[in-house]
Amino acid sequence: MHLSTLAAHRWRDKCPCCGVRMTGGRYIAGRVAPPTYKTRGHDKAIAEGGSLNLWVWICNRCNVNQASLSFEVWARKLMRADDARAERVAELADFFRRHESDSRHSYPGVRPAENVEVPRIDTLAD
Ligand SMILES: [Zn+2]
Repeated sequence: MHLSTLAAHRWRDKCPCCGVRMTGGRYIAGRVAPPTYKTRGHDKAIAEGGSLNLWVWICNRCNVNQASLSFEVWARKLMRADDARAERVAELADFFRRHESDSRHSYPGVRPAENVEVPRIDTLAD
């Protein structure tokens, strides 16, 4: 089952990070999306090798605030800032840890290869 489906069972239409009821609908070009707008939240930024497949809906405001931090690192930062979202974000980090491998397996064709010998780079030198 996809991570976002599992998240919907757990948080329904509330942002897992702050609890706000998220809004969706058609995005109007040229308009700034409201802070409550639902966006795809990734545990690891795509630019840093995070998987496009692993995401849950989080609100626009939290997504912007999280920036490129993982949920775990962001949770620690929020904790230090005494931000009320810290505990929720820590729970979300844990949720990702527990479910990301199941979720990855829900995509046919992208199962990790098993028992494949991959030569280390240093053995290729010379
Ligand atoms: Zn939020």
